[in-house]
Amino acid sequence: MKIDVSDLLKKKITKKDVNLTILESEFFNGEESIRFVEPVKLECKFSLVGDILNLDGTATTKLELTCSRCLEKFVRDVKIEIHEEFSNEDVNKDDDCIFIDSDAIDITEIIENNIILALPIRKLCSEDCKGLCQVCGTNLNKSACNCEKQDIDPRLAGLKDFFSSN
Ligand SMILES: [Zn+2]
Ligand SMILES: [Zn+2]
Repeated sequence: MKIDVSDLLKKKITKKDVNLTILESEFFNGEESIRFVEPVKLECKFSLVGDILNLDGTATTKLELTCSRCLEKFVRDVKIEIHEEFSNEDVNKDDDCIFIDSDAIDITEIIENNIILALPIRKLCSEDCKGLCQVCGTNLNKSACNCEKQDIDPRLAGLKDFFSSN
């Protein structure tokens, strides 16, 4: 979805509130497809400061993620703060300022990029997810298995947890 910001760029107005509901099905985060379980609610404010167009807002939605440990899908509420700067002037081109060469901002792309940055690398269905058995692949959250458990010296067990959780 695109938001028309031509009146801001032409300095006809210096502020604009935008409240939107954006219906998207899914996006690719570079590794996997992430599904939107409900539409994204966006509440944001544009403000023009000099030649820089600032966007400050909040996006709320629910996403279907895949647990990094047990590989099951789960739904997570997501609420992210969005702060971006835009400019249509070449001189303002830098890492923090997004260059726009039209009168519209692709807000879907902005939201998706912010979600990708906000999500943890390891997405867990719950903090104490037991994961899959390394030997037989059983989901240990659902049932136990009969595989031989590795003998771990109790003095080293803490250390092993340290490594497996990182
Ligand atoms: Zn899990
Ligand atoms: Zn097993």
